[in-house]
Amino acid sequence: MKDNFKFKGRRRILALELKKKGITNDKVLDSVMNVPRHLFIDPGLSEQAYLDKALPIKNNQTISQPFTVAFQTQLLDLNEGCKVLEIGTGSGYQTSILNHLKFNIYTIERSHNLFRTTTKLFNRLKIYPKKFVYGDGYNGLKDDSPFDGIIVTAGSPTTPNKLLSQLKIGGKMIIPIGEETQVMTRITRISESKFKKETYGDFKFVPMLENKD
Ligand code: SAH
Repeated sequence: MKDNFKFKGRRRILALELKKKGITNDKVLDSVMNVPRHLFIDPGLSEQAYLDKALPIKNNQTISQPFTVAFQTQLLDLNEGCKVLEIGTGSGYQTSILNHLKFNIYTIERSHNLFRTTTKLFNRLKIYPKKFVYGDGYNGLKDDSPFDGIIVTAGSPTTPNKLLSQLKIGGKMIIPIGEETQVMTRITRISESKFKKETYGDFKFVPMLENKD
């Protein structure tokens, strides 16, 4: 499956829809217009790729809704070259949006099945994160820390302290917190020991699980 004018047109319409829903960052909208989401899902679902909805991927997981991906990326609010850690690579779609924004990306996936498939896809699409790690995101990547941003794409019941400790001063973590439904939360590290918390409404994510699969 390749890209074509039909899909490009649909991406433009999707970006306009996201703009109406509150995505105001032009660079984020530009990334939505450029990243071919249909390549990150089963070809049988490609007709649905540019609807604003989550879709199933391998291992009972989902590729997040485009609005959610754009919203979390907008909340990161970082510039080119910043160091970003993503927890939950999944299909690699969110990673590719971060890649289009020219961040230095470190990304972790706990499912070996998804890790394998997405590694192949990144090679095919020539997307090269600084690191793509098969591991448990709850541990973060201490040796590569501190990060300007951490983006968690699975619902965490509580705030993972290890991840907070891997933020730069001034760095931000965007994380959906909760069990059944999650509250989108931005935590900014104000100083070594002080954090600011802002909330941005309810979302529904697959759960962030411990250990590797
Ligand atoms: N960003 C992905 C979203 C995938 S859904 C996308 O755009 O497709 C969430 C992903 O988080 C799943 O792939 C799941 O396997 C992964 N995940 C859940 N808990 C994790 C953990 N502790 N560490 C790393 N990945 C985790």
